[in-house]
Amino acid sequence: MEVYLDNNATTMVDPKVFEEMKPFFIEKYGNPNSLHRFGAGTHPKMLEALNYLYEGINAADEDDIVITANATESINSVIKGIWVDKILNGDKKHIITSEVEHPAVTAACKFLESQGVAVTYLPVNEQGVLEASAVKEYIKEDTALVSIMWANNETGKIFPIKEIGQICKAAGVPFHTDATQAIGKVKVDVQDTNVDYLTFSAHKFHGPKGVGGTYIRKGYTLTPLLHGGEQMGGLRAGTVDVASMVGMGLAMKLATSPIALAHEEGHIKRLRDKLENAILEIPETIVIGGKENRTPNTTLISIRGVEGESMLWDLNQNGVGASTGSACASEDLEANPVMNAFGSDSELAHTGVRLSLSRFNTEEQIDYAINVIKNAVERLRGLSSSYAYAPESHKSAL
Ligand SMILES: *Cc1c(COP(=O)(O)O)cnc(C)c1O
Repeated sequence: MEVYLDNNATTMVDPKVFEEMKPFFIEKYGNPNSLHRFGAGTHPKMLEALNYLYEGINAADEDDIVITANATESINSVIKGIWVDKILNGDKKHIITSEVEHPAVTAACKFLESQGVAVTYLPVNEQGVLEASAVKEYIKEDTALVSIMWANNETGKIFPIKEIGQICKAAGVPFHTDATQAIGKVKVDVQDTNVDYLTFSAHKFHGPKGVGGTYIRKGYTLTPLLHGGEQMGGLRAGTVDVASMVGMGLAMKLATSPIALAHEEGHIKRLRDKLENAILEIPETIVIGGKENRTPNTTLISIRGVEGESMLWDLNQNGVGASTGSACASEDLEANPVMNAFGSDSELAHTGVRLSLSRFNTEEQIDYAINVIKNAVERLRGLSSSYAYAPESHKSAL
């Protein structure tokens, strides 16, 4: 059996989404900016897709959604756009973010630091959650942007976006949230929160890879990253990938309908909990950051004495795909920065396994995965000399 439990890295394209995209490769392939039927003929479907995106995050008609290549581009365009507008061409000097953002945010902020911008990286608490009060404490007169993710890709922890939005609004500071891991997992509503910029990637919610979006609240602007043609109202030049845009629209609709979100909170959460509780029956295992306030599909578990990379290899041999944490960070054996941010000892940081489910996982798959994981732990602990002689228990180390 093959079981894919790495849906926070990317997801399968929903077959309905794939069907929706097909005509735009060899039938309706015209450039959408052309006036003839081949091009302009794509407009109704593009508009429909855009509407699905607006509905999916409850954007107001006057707000903007810019189609981009992915969340990485969207995030870079927000952070660097604000840098140009508010810091290079304005009187601001400072950006606030967290220590546990995706590398797209962290690396963009590090780049700005190299250009002389002051960046505050706020730590998370023992539960892996950023406290809104920390944002309030660090906002200054010269703060140009607050950028805090909606949900964390490693732990699934959900951050207090509504409170942070209120704090930013009161201080008059633009607020960006990377909602890549939140869309399709929890309700994302830009009118209910004071989010000014919101970014996402289609392939994290069963859309295609290589397409994403940037939400921009009415009254907020963005200096474009890509200059060229007049596409996207001049906010993002380059011929739009119509197939991908249409696919992302339908994927958003399917992932954010009330029924889909209820399914996440019900069925998918139940399967995640079944998997997690079965692993927690193994002695000296813990959920990193604990069980509260998480997206329904994710668990990050530390299994003492079992090195994460060895575990993944063993699982892969048995048909199960998982992750040690961020796919972007797992190529080297450096301890996972998110786990380090919990202030944990380095052993804990090397023993994390992230399991992330989707609506395409079945109960039979979860039962199979439980078996594979239990056998792998037994095998690897048998091989690990450090496990038997570890001086203190895993739990007491926390
Ligand atoms: C995957 C991910 C991204 C980056 O998405 P890309 O499609 O690789 O650009 C950004 N933020 C979070 C939280 C993610 O999970």
